[in-house]
Amino acid sequence: EGRIVFDNVFFHYEPQRPILKGVSFEAPPGKTIAIVGPSGAGKSTISRLMFRFYEPQGGRITIDGQNILDVTQESLRAAIGMVPQDTVLFNDSIGYNIRYGRWDASDEEVREAARLAQIDRFIESVPGAYGAQVGERGLKLSGGEKQRVAIARTILKAPPILILDEATSALDSLTEHEIQEALRRVAKGRTTLVIAHRLSTIVEADEILFLDHGQIVERGTHNALLALG
Ligand code: ADP
Ligand code: ADP
Repeated sequence: EGRIVFDNVFFHYEPQRPILKGVSFEAPPGKTIAIVGPSGAGKSTISRLMFRFYEPQGGRITIDGQNILDVTQESLRAAIGMVPQDTVLFNDSIGYNIRYGRWDASDEEVREAARLAQIDRFIESVPGAYGAQVGERGLKLSGGEKQRVAIARTILKAPPILILDEATSALDSLTEHEIQEALRRVAKGRTTLVIAHRLSTIVEADEILFLDHGQIVERGTHNALLALG
């Protein structure tokens, strides 16, 4: 469960500027596939297509054999968890932020997710507006702590598919290392697409795809690609 197939996907935002030019890959259930490439290569477009924010003009995207155009956006949001580069928090408690999207979760489940993501000490606290300012109740979360909230939310939601879109690239390297540990735990057993502009951040991927100007120009394991130089 959770097999993603991109079959010869073509996409453009504007007709005169192709963004994806025949992208094909397969993410088997439970495996981690990394999509690496320079800024502007089309990496985030792939995750936007997964959520049906846009529709491809050619080819098809399937999840477990079903064309995602036949799936509601609501069910896609339920099936796919996303940890973005910067997590925007609601101006409500961290517990509320973790529960977001799974309102039926018990307090105990929320607490356990927070504990696994190591953000439980803040569960009752309220971040400032959008987590950026010092809030009335005085909490300012760091970038790493905000990512932990997003990770706890994903642990609670437990989707079969996970997209990590530059999930650690805004963090300093020490924090990045810690967050990657937490992400590895969430990714375990889920089909995971890791989007990154650097190879160094994605050692754990089963397969790495290099995207450049909308095409996969190289693919292989981490070691094989390092050997290529
Ligand atoms: P990456 O994630 O690899 O940096 P993106 O998929 O975000 O690349 O973007 C690929 C290209 O598409 C970029 O040149 C970007 O400016 C362009 N782009 C992204 N979104 C839009 C949009 N909504 N309208 C027009 N161009 C866009
Ligand atoms: P990133 O992938 O770098 O985290 P985004 O996915 O938000 O950032 O956007 C990637 C690129 O696409 C940026 O250059 C951004 O300006 C451009 N972009 C994103 N959305 C739009 C849009 N709706 N219209 C035009 N350009 C966009």
